[in-house]
Formats: sequence, structure tokens, C-alpha cells
Amino acid sequence: MDFDLTEEQKMIAGSARQVAKDFPPVYWREKDAREVFAEEFYRALSRIGFTGLIIPEKYGGSGKGLTELLIAMEELAANGCGLGGAWYLILTEVFGALTILRHGTEAQRAKYLPGIVSGDIEFCMALTEPDAGSNTFDTRTTASKVAGGWLINGAKTFISGADRAKGMLTVARTTGKERDAGKTPALSLFLADLPSPSVTVTPIAKHGVNYSHSCDVEINDLALPGDALLPPENEGWRSLLDTLNAERMSFAAAAIGTARLAMSGAIEYSKGRKVFGDAPIGSYQGLQFPLAEAYAGMEAARLLNLQAATLFDSGASAAEVGATANLAKVTAIQSSHKAVYWSMQVFGGLGYARDADVERWWREINLLRLAPITQQLALGYIGEHVMGMPKSYGRD
Ligand SMILES: Cc1cc2nc3c(=O)[nH]c(=O)nc-3n(C[C@H](O)[C@H](O)[C@H](O)COP(=O)(O)OP(=O)(O)OC[C@H]3O[C@@H](n4cnc5c(N)ncnc54)[C@H](O)[C@@H]3O)c2cc1C
Repeated sequence: MDFDLTEEQKMIAGSARQVAKDFPPVYWREKDAREVFAEEFYRALSRIGFTGLIIPEKYGGSGKGLTELLIAMEELAANGCGLGGAWYLILTEVFGALTILRHGTEAQRAKYLPGIVSGDIEFCMALTEPDAGSNTFDTRTTASKVAGGWLINGAKTFISGADRAKGMLTVARTTGKERDAGKTPALSLFLADLPSPSVTVTPIAKHGVNYSHSCDVEINDLALPGDALLPPENEGWRSLLDTLNAERMSFAAAAIGTARLAMSGAIEYSKGRKVFGDAPIGSYQGLQFPLAEAYAGMEAARLLNLQAATLFDSGASAAEVGATANLAKVTAIQSSHKAVYWSMQVFGGLGYARDADVERWWREINLLRLAPITQQLALGYIGEHVMGMPKSYGRD
């Protein structure tokens, strides 16, 4: 058991800190307010090789693991970028590259991975539907076999980055629901190229993370070639679990980084602000204790998250990884949420001002109790799969 980062991992963390310096909170404040994509930031990520971090050298990347990607994400977030430091990497590297690497064909890898490394191809994942969020097994989007390939029809919602993505990992039902009597639902994964006249993308006005649009996506008779399917047909749920585990770990790392960022500003402020007499507000235990408690939780969550990533990189099954990934997600979001809440409290009324930035990180951190999986559903997973308690929700 070795708790130290390797020299290479320390270098990756150092590169993340270096690049983050060029994209301080004021940069993200402006992007969020104008609701525009952080083009310069994404180009910088590609320049330093972060868009190809987990992609093998054969396709132009640097062939590192998810562990290294999480380290990069946390440092980007903690050193000024907030959730934006990880967001685009999750959409393209995790939803796109990682899924294709683990489950794609050689032709699919050759088609997408070099473009992801260069920053020319962005990805999104179309899983959630208006009537199927937490309950993926209720997916209604269908993929019907036709001559030469597939015809996709359905509606997706909250699909982040769909307005810019060139590739969309699409989850669709490939048989009727009757096949779900088995252990897994009959879902399949497809790689759809965007934009397409058969796909209507409409951004949803939302609370935070406005440097990325999350969109309603209407799919009407989208014709895909046979080789757009990520094999095997009907077994997409098993493949998707890898992506969803990695997504949970990525958001855990991003949450810890965002909370570190919020906390560091609050601690600095608390040393100088005096309200009653000469003692700075940072010396009041009413502020210190909750921040220290949150900090302890964040440290524990990082260890869990790195344990989950190590398992993931070693090729452990999705079920083995799932237990630790969900523990990390729940713990990271609980403690980071608390950290940002109390950081905002430290600033008093000032924390409510746009220029203080902490209100933005509060809007960002709030997302993570709702997505990528709600805290309740992650707790349900731990209760059932880790602790062996009866399932709290059923399948129809
Ligand atoms: C900004 C944003 C970006 C997103 N980006 C993407 C994306 O890129 N791609 C994508 O596919 N999806 C995306 N999502 C969707 C996200 O993954 C879902 O919102 C999330 O999984 C929850 O699903 P839901 O919203 O349908 O909530 P629901 O499933 O309707 O749940 C509603 C509430 O009921 C609770 N609940 C439900 N069942 C139980 C139970 N058994 N026990 C206890 N409580 C329960 C839930 O915890 C939740 O609080 C995004 C969402 C947001 C807000």
C-alpha cells in the first residue's frame, strides 16, 4: 500500500497547476455570465496533452490511466477553474475516449481518438430521458435494425455539450422490454455523429455551469451505419457501467478541487476580517469546525476515489469498482458541498456578490448532489450492493 503519488503523477499535477494559472476565477466568471464555451481553456488543455491523457500513444495520446486524469481534474479545479476544470474533460475524455477505448472496435478508435487528442472532436453522452433519469432501465429511445444499419428515435434531456459535440454516445433500447426479465436491460450503445438534420438540440437555461450548455435532444429517424454500434448488441448496460463509474470518480475529484478552491479563498478572508474586537473571524470555532469537518471528509474522499481509480486502471470489474466509486462520490459530494456552503458563509453578505466567485462555486457544487447520480441513488447502491440490504427500488 503506497499513498504517495508517483513522480509522473506529481508532474501531471504540476502541469495542471501551471495551466490553471492562465484561467483564474475571473475568466470563468465571465464565461459563466456570458454562457459561452471556454475555447482558450480547451485549446490549452489540448496543447499540454490533457485531451489525450488516457488515450494510447498509438492514437497520439500519452496512454495514462484514469488515476492521472482525476489528479489533473482536481488540480485544475482547485487552482482557479472550479468545476470547469473537469467538466469538458468528463464530456469528451470520459464519455467519449474512455468508452471507445474500453468497448469500441479498432475502426471506432481510429475514427475518433486522434481527433479527441487534437481537441477537434468533442463528445457528449445521451443517456438521460424526460421519463428515465435515475431509472436507466426505463430508457425509451429505440434503435431498430434496418437495411444497412440502425434507425434511432427518442428524446433525451440535459445532454451537456450536445450543441458542440461531434460525437454522441447514445443509449438506446434494442429489443422490447420483455428481454429485461434477465439480469440486465436490453440496451445498446451507439456512436452518433453530430450535427445531424435528424437531431434537434435545444439548450436548457440552468442554475450554474453555464460555460457549457445542457440540452434537450430530439432524435427523429436518425440513420446510423451498422458499425456505429459499440459491441455487443443488447449488452450496452454492462459497458456503460464502466463509463458511469469513471464519471462518478471524475465528479468526485472535481468536487474536491472546487471545494479546495472555495475554501482557500474563505480561509484567507477569514484571517483578515474582524467583526467583534481584534479577533479575526477565522478564529471563531463556529466557522472553523464545520470547515475542518468538511476538510477531513474531502481528504477521506480523495483516498477512496484514488482507490477506486486504481481498481479501475487495474482492470477490475465494474461491480468491484462500483462499490468504491459510489462511496467516493457520496463522501466527496457531502464534504465538498459542506465546504462550499461554509466558505460562502465566511464571506457574509459579500459571498452573495457575483465578484466573490464563491456564489458560482456554490451553484456548481449544488449540481453534484443531483447529477451524475443523485446522492440518494448512490446511497441506495451502497445499501444494496455494498452492505447487502434489500433493494429499495424495483424494476418493473
Ligand atoms: C446540469 C446537468 C447536466 C447533466 N448532464 C447530463 C449529460 O451530459 N448526459 C446525461 O445523460 N444526463 C445528464 N444529466 C442528467 C442527470 O444525470 C440526471 O438529472 C440525474 O441522473 C437524475 O435523474 P432525474 O433528473 O431524472 O431525477 P429523477 O430520477 O426523476 O429523481 C428525482 C428525485 O427522486 C429521487 N429518487 C428517485 N428514486 C429514488 C429512490 N429509489 N430512493 C430515493 N430517492 C429516489 C432522486 O434522488 C431525486 O432526488 C444532467 C443533469 C443536469 C442537471
